[in-house]
Amino acid sequence: MRPVHVLQVASEMFPLVKTGGLADVTGALPAALADEGVTVTTMQPGYPAVLAALQAADAVHEEADLFGGPARLLRGEAAGLDLLVVEAPHLYDRPGNPYTRPDGSDWPDNAARFAGLARMAALAGRAGAGFAPDLVHAHDWQAGLAMAYLADGGARPGTVMTVHNLAFQGLFPGDGFASLGLPPGLFGVDGVEFFGMTGFLKAGLALADRVTTVSPTYAAEIQTPEHGMRLDGLLRARGGRLSGIVNGIDEAVWNPAADRLIAAPFSATAMEGRSKNKAEVQARFGLEAGTRPVFGVISRLSWQKGLDLLLGCVDEILVQGGQLVVLGTGERGLEDGFAAAAAANPGRIGCVIGYDEALAHQMQAGIDALLVPSRFEPCGLTQLCALRYGAVPVVSRVGGLADTVIDANEAAVAAGVANGIQFAEGALRPALRRASALWGRQQVWRRMQSNGMAADVSWKRPAAQYAALYREIIETRVAGRA
Ligand code: ADP
Repeated sequence: MRPVHVLQVASEMFPLVKTGGLADVTGALPAALADEGVTVTTMQPGYPAVLAALQAADAVHEEADLFGGPARLLRGEAAGLDLLVVEAPHLYDRPGNPYTRPDGSDWPDNAARFAGLARMAALAGRAGAGFAPDLVHAHDWQAGLAMAYLADGGARPGTVMTVHNLAFQGLFPGDGFASLGLPPGLFGVDGVEFFGMTGFLKAGLALADRVTTVSPTYAAEIQTPEHGMRLDGLLRARGGRLSGIVNGIDEAVWNPAADRLIAAPFSATAMEGRSKNKAEVQARFGLEAGTRPVFGVISRLSWQKGLDLLLGCVDEILVQGGQLVVLGTGERGLEDGFAAAAAANPGRIGCVIGYDEALAHQMQAGIDALLVPSRFEPCGLTQLCALRYGAVPVVSRVGGLADTVIDANEAAVAAGVANGIQFAEGALRPALRRASALWGRQQVWRRMQSNGMAADVSWKRPAAQYAALYREIIETRVAGRA
């Protein structure tokens, strides 16, 4: 197997900086790809948390002026990860969230901040940081412009652009394009321009050798006007270069047999611990003890996640004799809505507003079913964790949810392959009824649980798919067919 060296470019990476699933993916890929003969160096902005974690770093490049101040590229290690950090205090030395001010509004110079990351990525991609990567893999809009800096002529390595959520596009005023230092010819429909704006993600989608997203179904959906967020035309045009690779989860972190964050460990062959975990969840959320089915939500509370739809049918859960626990944070209206539902139904509905990693583990270990009624879901990680923990996922049939959950229709139940419940748009209420009915068939339910727990949700297969894609791009370029 030909060794491959990839420069991964991303604005967040677990365990250094995390605001969402992107960090989990960029944090997990290096180790998973190592088994595939792929070495990964990751470029990160020099946020305070990244610089604090960086060890034995060498300055490998100096830049006199990176969008308003001096910058250095530091190569070093943090948390076992090989990093190339853009040290540019005027851009990144700020407290808190990587994208927003303490009041939650975007930093006004985000275009410069992430153009800076992209420009340094292109420089390192062209061997300007002391090593010559075979390929640059950019994640999401913050890294998208790297594809433009690499497209401005001259030799370059292969490129992959991965979009984790098309809703975040990195759009900035068109008149800012001139300050990016890119050739004027790149400001057009085939390049960086998006309806008169400067589109960072658009640039990546238009100019990368290959585009990936985080599930095959989402890859198909984003080529339609309904889900394409005005990029569907471009994505259709690039359809032959666009594919979907489902994310994995870290099986060391999400392992019910050895999880110190849950009340009682368990496994597919020793499920006794699960009832203790269920009792713990019921107690934690102030629910009546007992054998009612417990439905759970662990989610950002946002329109994307369809939780307003769930709020509209909590009565169905109660009528069917179930209980509901909700852990989440986000939109005020949804936070208030679930808090009110809990207050109105003590003992049957419980709600914790906040972000709580330990409670998320405990819930996955104790709830009977995880509800994910998303309007769109590029991949989704919660349903993968749920499968592994024997919480039966009840999901809308979109994106990665459609690709990872096997619906308990009668044929699948008869064949013994179901591991969850899928429902079509607008059909959450009947799905809740169906889930309750299936829960009443305990043998079927147990089979769904054990199927879920046996499903491969690790990074092994996705890593093999990324490695194959990298090699295909490199070989195509060597053959001059890029
Ligand atoms: P997204 O990235 O769109 O928010 P995903 O399902 O891909 O959704 O990933 C969300 C991750 O964050 C999951 O691992 C989930 O368990 C976790 N999570 C979401 N909300 C919370 C919360 N309030 N507390 C703890 N973990 C949460």
